[in-house]
Amino acid sequence: MNSERFDDDRDYEYRYDVPADAPAYDCAYCGRPFAREEWRTLHYGLEHPAELDDEEVRAFREAYEDEADDLGTFRLQALAVLVAIYFCLLMVYALV
Ligand SMILES: [Zn+2]
Repeated sequence: MNSERFDDDRDYEYRYDVPADAPAYDCAYCGRPFAREEWRTLHYGLEHPAELDDEEVRAFREAYEDEADDLGTFRLQALAVLVAIYFCLLMVYALV
């Protein structure tokens, strides 16, 4: 198990191996790369809230609400799958 910890939060170049041809969105404050712009926006709000201007705060809130909506949708889908599996196993148990 790899439980290696990094003491220097700003030493991201050694922590992330980004392929040269992959699009990366680097954090303007700490340099951490993200594969999606929305993830970088969420990182700004969670890790650098004091350094954001009004436009970045608004972008973070929109990204946060979108992420919360997606998470709610995922939870409903996961519940539906669990209920379906439960009833399938119940029917198998009743018939066999
Ligand atoms: Zn950062």
